[in-house]
Amino acid sequence: MNFSKIILYDEPTVPELEINRLQKFLANTFHVDVTVKNNLFNSINDDIIEEIASCRVFDLKSPFKKYKPNNEQINFERNYCKNTKFIEEIPTPETAENLDDLVIYDGFEIKNILESVIPKDETVNDCLHIIFTNKLTCTYDYGDFRYHGRAVICSNPSIISTSGIVEAPAKSREYYLDIMKAKSQTLDLKSIKKKYQNTFLDYHDKRTSKIIEGYLLQAIFYYITGDPFCENLDCRLNNAHWQKDLLYSQLEFSKLCGKHHSILEKLHL
Ligand SMILES: [Zn+2]
Repeated sequence: MNFSKIILYDEPTVPELEINRLQKFLANTFHVDVTVKNNLFNSINDDIIEEIASCRVFDLKSPFKKYKPNNEQINFERNYCKNTKFIEEIPTPETAENLDDLVIYDGFEIKNILESVIPKDETVNDCLHIIFTNKLTCTYDYGDFRYHGRAVICSNPSIISTSGIVEAPAKSREYYLDIMKAKSQTLDLKSIKKKYQNTFLDYHDKRTSKIIEGYLLQAIFYYITGDPFCENLDCRLNNAHWQKDLLYSQLEFSKLCGKHHSILEKLHL
């Protein structure tokens, strides 16, 4: 095993994480010391807040370009990092009037900044940091030349985006068609969400903690083997592109496949 300690950083705006439950899950699975710390974004200074603001993505079709945020954007970012009630005012891809209202960040850029914030004596190799955030992270894909939402950025520190888990794996085509129809007729979106509620994970969903176990496994397998994902739907390392696959792998099947289970077993020898 190439680490002996895991530090989890809580996201208090998402109590459905059940951080202490996740702490126990990791301690039982990997037999290492697992510590929970406060949200990293709450304690950062103004210089770092400005750096985080500079990671926002405004053009989904262009690779990341660092820009200089204005005062309004820096104040927005300070509120977003420090004021736990502020998240409720931030539009999601469904509630946003247009794409410009979306608040999304380049996941690898944010990761680099957070890495510089972690105390140096804790950045030793045998300590794996996993940071939860409600910020919607995305990464640029040179395959189709656009940004895509990402639930997990695998690295050390790793980032798990609670909004990314809701937004990155796609919902069914029928759901999006119904939402488009409702928007054009200015109908309430809630009734559509209710109709499809068991087919995807939503914000403040009570299944969040269980599903996040799978993303934790992916972040940790990346650190152990260099590969976080599994092709097999019958495995919690499956990189779900669809919400239905996410729910299947994490809730219904809810185990590792034979190959990945044996990697885990060997760690404990
Ligand atoms: Zn597998």
